[in-house]
Amino acid sequence: MRIFVSREKDEAIRMKRMVDLLRSGATMLADVCPICNSPLFKLKSGEIFCPGCEKRVIFVKEGEDITKITQIQAISELTSTASQKIMELTNMAKFESDLDRLYEIGRCVLTWLEIFERVRKMQA
Ligand SMILES: [Zn+2]
Repeated sequence: MRIFVSREKDEAIRMKRMVDLLRSGATMLADVCPICNSPLFKLKSGEIFCPGCEKRVIFVKEGEDITKITQIQAISELTSTASQKIMELTNMAKFESDLDRLYEIGRCVLTWLEIFERVRKMQA
């Protein structure tokens, strides 16, 4: 029941955002966001915006759109996973006294740091 209520609330917030977008002169597109299924909006500046994800969406060409949007979503998820894993591993290292385990943790941290760095470069 609580989940239902919160979903209703999310829907209301999304609707309000859409109304605000239309008021600001944005136009609703025929395309929907592949992540949240919300209709996409074209802002006056020409940027495409998803009111459901509250994110700017980068459109390329018909057919390429979905891949591009999914990629952006994947990158942002990867960034947050990487930083979360680095934090978890750092905490593990704090309480670990076994040298072999510490070495393993260290290697893991390095791997995640590298992922983090690469993703950041992709975003730039
Ligand atoms: Zn969305």
